[in-house]
Amino acid sequence: MDTKRFEEKIWLSSPTMHGPELEYIKEAYETNWMSTVGANINEVERLICEKLGCKYAVALATGTAALHMAIKAAGVQRGDKVFCSDMTFSASVNPIVYEGGSPVFIDVEYDTWNMSPEALEKAFQLYPDAKAVVLVHLYGTPAKVDEIKAICDRYGAILIEDAAESLGATYKGKQTGTFGKYNVLSFNGNKIITGTSGGVLVTGDEEAAEKVRKWSNQARENVLWYQHEDLGYNYRMSNIIAGVVRGQMPFLEEHIAQKKAIYERYREGFKDLPATINPYDEETSEPNFWMSCMLIDEDAMCSQTRSDREATYISEPGKSCPTEILEKLFEYNTEGRPIWKPMHAQPIFRDSPFVTREGLLKTGGTTETRTLGADGLPLDISMDIFHRGLCLPSDNKMTAEEQEVVVEVIKRCFE
Ligand SMILES: *Cc1c(COP(=O)(O)O)cnc(C)c1O
Repeated sequence: MDTKRFEEKIWLSSPTMHGPELEYIKEAYETNWMSTVGANINEVERLICEKLGCKYAVALATGTAALHMAIKAAGVQRGDKVFCSDMTFSASVNPIVYEGGSPVFIDVEYDTWNMSPEALEKAFQLYPDAKAVVLVHLYGTPAKVDEIKAICDRYGAILIEDAAESLGATYKGKQTGTFGKYNVLSFNGNKIITGTSGGVLVTGDEEAAEKVRKWSNQARENVLWYQHEDLGYNYRMSNIIAGVVRGQMPFLEEHIAQKKAIYERYREGFKDLPATINPYDEETSEPNFWMSCMLIDEDAMCSQTRSDREATYISEPGKSCPTEILEKLFEYNTEGRPIWKPMHAQPIFRDSPFVTREGLLKTGGTTETRTLGADGLPLDISMDIFHRGLCLPSDNKMTAEEQEVVVEVIKRCFE
């Protein structure tokens, strides 16, 4: 196949606008609702409840703000342990620390790349009084919700779903973002639909929804003057941002269908390579396919070393590694990315406990992946996936022809 550098960059995942967004922005402007109140905000909250089948939705400035409010609503206080998926984006963890909580990272499993129920069970044996669990549906693939929920219930911990990447994905026919006591969505620019920014807290608890509504509006009491009885935050969504989200909502399913087609073309394109794409449980789950990823078979990995800031590799015939593929994608003007680097290996969280299916693992923040568990698999699964995996260009505007070139470029890395 004839391959040459793309003239226009192919992104990992970029915003896709459709037109109605501009109409809602214009309406807000012309009616002068240039504020954090207005019809677009009310509509976003209504549309989210309609789509998810949830009771209450509170529109906020960002997904991170929504997570912060979820952590507060869960009553997390200084010193409380909060369990969190190890392989995620740091925004899942930071709000735990804002409230003085202590994160404990839970290793992932190979079936969905999400929190391992076995490791979670081990973590509760070590820390039975953990207050809450932040469960992430990484890359839009639902986690093992039933198993995780059963463990949380058994230990009386509050489940918080970080569904920032999984809007529209379902588990046993039910939307992600509806299983936890408090749940979080994001409309950051790279998500499946976007408002440029924005987030939503979703809950079935009316009192909690009202509290979050109040806290996010500087904790103003319903009194004539500014009266404050709680600590407040300026976290409400803007009516302009809400206009963009409102305009995007009808296109969610279209975006999911495009992302699914991309995922399936990769699966087909790589079927002869010593690699797999990010898996999901077809029995229980329908992901939103936000991000297609690749995992290179262990015996097809060339030597690759990563320090805190740099990566090197030694090219080998018949083998490749994420660093080599990412370099090649970059040469062709396409954007790939390493798998989100696990939290237990982040310098900022180096002192936080990390629990695998075999119990507490002292890693000292190293990126070592050789130690095997009793089952013969790598002990530190999130680090193994980080080592062998990468995020592929998954932009829903990428054409089938363009994707063919991307697949070809990747295949050549293994020659
Ligand atoms: C994007 C993201 C967030 C944060 O959302 P923002 O709207 O960017 O604040 C949280 N968790 C995960 C897993 C994300 O991918």
